[in-house]
Amino acid sequence: MNSISQPEFLPATRAELDRLGWRELDVLLVSGDAYVDHPAFGAALIGRWLVAHGWRVGIVAQPRWDRTDDLLAMGRPRLFAGASAGALDSMLAHYTAFRKKRSDDAYTPGGRCGQRPNRAAIVYAGLLRRAFPGLPVVLGGIEASLRRAAHYDFWTDRVRRSILLDAKADLLVYGMAERAVLDTAARLAAGGDLTGIPGTAHAGAAPAATVRLPACEAIQARPALLLEATLLLERQMRESFWAAQGHAGRDVLLAPPAEPLTTEELDRLYALPFARRAHPCARGPVPALEMIRFSLTAHRGCAGGCSFCALALHQGRRISSRSRASLAAEARALTRRPDWDGTLTDVGGPSANMWGASCAAVPGSCRRGSCLTPEPCPSFRDAQDELAGLLESLLRIPGVRHLRVASGVRHDLALRSPAYMRALVRRFTGGQLKLAPEHSSPAVLRLMRKPPFRVFEAFLEAFARESRAAGKEQYVVPYLMSAFPGCTQADMRELAGWLKARGWRPRQAQCFIPAPGTAAAAMFHAGIDERGRAIPVARSDAERLRQHAALAPRHA
Ligand code: SF4
Repeated sequence: MNSISQPEFLPATRAELDRLGWRELDVLLVSGDAYVDHPAFGAALIGRWLVAHGWRVGIVAQPRWDRTDDLLAMGRPRLFAGASAGALDSMLAHYTAFRKKRSDDAYTPGGRCGQRPNRAAIVYAGLLRRAFPGLPVVLGGIEASLRRAAHYDFWTDRVRRSILLDAKADLLVYGMAERAVLDTAARLAAGGDLTGIPGTAHAGAAPAATVRLPACEAIQARPALLLEATLLLERQMRESFWAAQGHAGRDVLLAPPAEPLTTEELDRLYALPFARRAHPCARGPVPALEMIRFSLTAHRGCAGGCSFCALALHQGRRISSRSRASLAAEARALTRRPDWDGTLTDVGGPSANMWGASCAAVPGSCRRGSCLTPEPCPSFRDAQDELAGLLESLLRIPGVRHLRVASGVRHDLALRSPAYMRALVRRFTGGQLKLAPEHSSPAVLRLMRKPPFRVFEAFLEAFARESRAAGKEQYVVPYLMSAFPGCTQADMRELAGWLKARGWRPRQAQCFIPAPGTAAAAMFHAGIDERGRAIPVARSDAERLRQHAALAPRHA
């Protein structure tokens, strides 16, 4: 493999391709987000990773979808084209919890909505097939990942088949894609096939030792089977086996998940020369970039396993963390930028305080849906004392005047480390700390796989104590959720009563949206809990609005 140097931006136009002296692309990535050359944007991350391994990659961001011209601009790529809806599922990005069209889009220049189609991964895959007949098309990103098997689609209120089949793609990459895309490129370059790449799904014949998920048609006929299939997919993420799901006589095969990147690999990935700017073709600032321009991703994965969260099925529960040296090097590089303003706006990941966490159990032996609830697993090891030290050391870097923790803090975890609690509250909270207790009802919290509410109350006390000791007036901003499956009007009254007793008016209240592929979406659809017992579900917009009104009367 020839090594090639990393350009300032990956090419997005024919002229840029020519300037680089690249005769053709090996891989074309099509994304529903603007091309922002920052490691928080999937196309840039995967594109630069491929270039670092010798492949020539171009990016087409937010192409027009009524013609193929934008895709054709850099010519036919040699190996494959990747299609991703972007950082969010396109339906989640486009519609509110009450299925109203959103008016803005944080991943588009100027925050304008309407720059990506609904069900973008399917639409882009179709465009690619038209533009480049016979070229392998690979789906990736969160939309593909969450919809890799038969799933409940809130926006049409029905079970849809695997997006692999709807998109007529050759391969679907699920989870974090670095290993799978390298494998895909290498196999295609060698003339090989695409079967069995860890972290991918394809249509074909199932190997012998395969766990069978309930078939799509069976789920459509019997909603309870959706939860069974979802829990099996969660198990696959933990136990790494082959899975297959029938779709009208065809099997969608899900190879075992890819191994998370090691610390050394993550360090190499984040050391790539991201411009941390939007590509010059972007017309206007990209709001999502403005939020994360000076933040550091410290780790991947989330051990929490909340039943409504897409992360368990995408990044998985195993934590992979960057080294202290890598984070310090990135922070130092940020301080040398002309636009640096002195503040590291976040050091975190899916959660703020799981950097360095690990599992002491034998790999593949885990049977739990969460490492932290209903009570912490004895095999779970956190590294919050070290994390506190890491944050302090980043703050000592010349030019870093402030460091904030903006990722969501797992409050149950934070209470395990007085050193972390002290550092977080006294040094790294900028007046307000976002926390997600989500609810107060024990039954609802159990269904969410969240810690008991008394743990949140204990955190509030510790937070107030530490804030007083630091002489700071600071607040916790609680994230709360209405209309979760199993939640009743009485549960909402209880939560509203608790808030009223404290004189709190919630600013961050969300009405539950069933994200495709999650256990909570299956509970919503089937009206059962994880043990198959019937639960009440606020299903109609009227019922959901009524619950939500307990938290946010103005939305009712
Ligand atoms: S810490 Fe416990 S719950 Fe978490 S992965 Fe390990 S064994 Fe499973």
